[in-house]
Amino acid sequence: MPTCLDYARFLSKAAARRQPSAIREATQLFSRSPPSTISFASGSPNTSLFPFKQATITLIDGTNIELDPSAMSKALQYLPTPGLADLLEWLKKLQNYYHSPGDFKRYDLCITNGSMEGLSKVFELILNPGDPVLVDSPCYSGSLDFLRGFGADIISIETDSNGMNVNHLNETLTNWATSKSLPKVLYTIPNGSNPTGASMNLARKQAIYEIAKKYNLLIIEDDPYFFLQFTKPDPSFLSMDIDGRVIRLDSMSKVLSAGMRLGFVTAPVPLWKKIVYHQQVTSMHASSLSQMVALKLFEKWNLSEFDEHTKRISKFYENQKNLMVNAINKYLKDMITFNEPTAGMFIWLKINGIDDTRKLIYEKALGQEVLLLPGSAFFVDQSKSYPFVRVSYSLCTPEQIETGMARFGKVLQEELKH
Ligand code: PMP
Repeated sequence: MPTCLDYARFLSKAAARRQPSAIREATQLFSRSPPSTISFASGSPNTSLFPFKQATITLIDGTNIELDPSAMSKALQYLPTPGLADLLEWLKKLQNYYHSPGDFKRYDLCITNGSMEGLSKVFELILNPGDPVLVDSPCYSGSLDFLRGFGADIISIETDSNGMNVNHLNETLTNWATSKSLPKVLYTIPNGSNPTGASMNLARKQAIYEIAKKYNLLIIEDDPYFFLQFTKPDPSFLSMDIDGRVIRLDSMSKVLSAGMRLGFVTAPVPLWKKIVYHQQVTSMHASSLSQMVALKLFEKWNLSEFDEHTKRISKFYENQKNLMVNAINKYLKDMITFNEPTAGMFIWLKINGIDDTRKLIYEKALGQEVLLLPGSAFFVDQSKSYPFVRVSYSLCTPEQIETGMARFGKVLQEELKH
């Protein structure tokens, strides 16, 4: 059994101060008590007064899931902060199935309002304003925006077609100024990265894990595109974690619904507790109604049906990716360079011969009724010019992909003439 990390070292000042909320802990106690227990402790409202009674939800295959009055009453009430107990059990099974992180005594799960809520709580768990955090560059703009607002010292680590570049990571840490304290944490998106579409292979993950061990870093594995992989998934950081240094974020946004706002954090227990204490005094818990709908769906499905569902989804995105790659090769060839993604919803184009894609997109492309996202949104320093654009292939029809890329090709040809 490996020795446990000293988790106190990783906590921000705010996280170190956080204590359980007495009221929320009572909710947790009551939820675990025998049904005959009489509670005068609760501040929960009386659900019989709410206007909703029951619900039938029709699935896309025509079958139904039912929220009978008893399920509905639970779905309308406060929950213990980590989530609906049966849903948590189901998600633990899911984590074991996909990542086999082994001993769940060392990890626990907390359901969050999308993975973004979990992510912001994980950053605040570890960082004080001014603290360094190592991130992929380019990086998910939502995380950058959070970290910027928080006042973190965001350290960009270059990426390539396999994600975070090990040499640059090593160099950055080896040449770290002795006057500054070393980072405690590394944040990465291992599959179908937003914005680059890059995925890390196993060798890359192993090399990064070794560096994390050497410098005693936590790894934040933000993996909302895990279920959108077009090839057999490589093991996750969570599945290779022997020290308890990985905090993993999963999202249901791409597989159940973005609007239900369901994600979950898997973290070593001492860190998980502090995340729960934080959630107790912010959102309290993720939507009970969303959690109940997800639970009823998972009770109807077994893991293999869920797996088939995610495979159908990844097949759809792979097909979309193929259409987009074909259109890019047809209309943009010689004007751009890119790596073909093996997961996710995005392609990252470098436009040859153009320094700043903001003007190109907002002034020229939009005028021709095609919109892409300028690369600058995904870099720490947004004042600089970047020759990149992010192309998303999630929503467009095959006709729109063809017509849109033809329009963008024309815009580029015009621009490069000058
Ligand atoms: N992380 C990354 C890398 C994302 O691209 C997104 C948004 N798709 C999120 C987190 C937030 O997702 P969620 O809807 O689960 O909050």
